[in-house]
Amino acid sequence: MNRLERIKGCLLGGAVGDALGAPVEFLKWNDIHATFGARGIVDFAPAYGRVGAITDDTQMMLFTAEGLLRAHVRGISRGICHIPGVIHHALLRWLMTQDYSPAITSVSLDGWLVKERELWSRRAPGLTCLSALKASTEFGSFAQNDSKGCGAVMRVAPCAFFRNAFDVAADSGRLTHGHPTGYMAGGLFADILQRIVDRQDSLDDAIAKSLAEHGDKPGMEETRAIVERVLFFSYEGHRPAPERIDELGGGWIAEEALAIGIWCALTATSFEDGVINAVNHSGDSDSTGLIAGHLLGIQHGVEAIPDRWLAPLELRGVIEAVAEDIERVPRVFTVYGGEFDDEIWERYPGG
Ligand SMILES: [Mg+2]
Repeated sequence: MNRLERIKGCLLGGAVGDALGAPVEFLKWNDIHATFGARGIVDFAPAYGRVGAITDDTQMMLFTAEGLLRAHVRGISRGICHIPGVIHHALLRWLMTQDYSPAITSVSLDGWLVKERELWSRRAPGLTCLSALKASTEFGSFAQNDSKGCGAVMRVAPCAFFRNAFDVAADSGRLTHGHPTGYMAGGLFADILQRIVDRQDSLDDAIAKSLAEHGDKPGMEETRAIVERVLFFSYEGHRPAPERIDELGGGWIAEEALAIGIWCALTATSFEDGVINAVNHSGDSDSTGLIAGHLLGIQHGVEAIPDRWLAPLELRGVIEAVAEDIERVPRVFTVYGGEFDDEIWERYPGG
């Protein structure tokens, strides 16, 4: 499988998981069961007035990707670039699509992504993300809060396709989430994805190597403990049933969302099976669906995603275009004088 198929699989897989979970994000398992039957939700159902609607998770993931691509352009044109600062600027563009005004008044609404009108829609945006982005007064400044909500995990997958995924993802998570568990879990997630795409590691190998390299860092304690727990569950053959996921936690916080996504991906018999397991529980179904979808899509490529989910997926064309742009640029943030790509330059103004 080539790199583009993995990138597309990752981004579209995440969006599909997000869309499957969207109608049940705020439902307890009992309600999901009562509405959709014993297996829970197994197909797209209407949310936000349509079938296949993505949520804030995919929106913010796309703007994170935009920030990374602009950081690449800026690196070539200026030779220096503060990557989290450029991602921050992109996330502030997202904030403006939600009809909020940031304290930073110099946000430019340029580039192609923000002009996609379908993105200008509120999909239950996370309150921590909103308040942190509204309050920040400087591009690249870290959030002044103690939140470890999963908002710093659910948007960082695109960091996997650029060098130093762990640090870039953790720093970009920290723009909105000040608790170390919140942003370190994001770093671990991007690092696991990077090992799969760059070295073709299996998911369990990638997790083991990521934990070996980053698991002892300060701030990683909670994430490490719960990820090791689901690794053990999976080695013991325990499959993620809704009640078992509820025992583990709701996934509203970073380390739980990551662990639920990992558990469902590790035990999946197919893309479909893993993503269905990941959204059927009482917690943050769209985010855990997105995390499992990223993990499965990057391993098995876009081919593994059922057509009945890809066809009605909102913003499918935008997501594919972003994946293709990521594949076109070098994964290293090139320093001044790197190779020039006119089209990328135009789409991601950064100079
Ligand atoms: Mg959401």
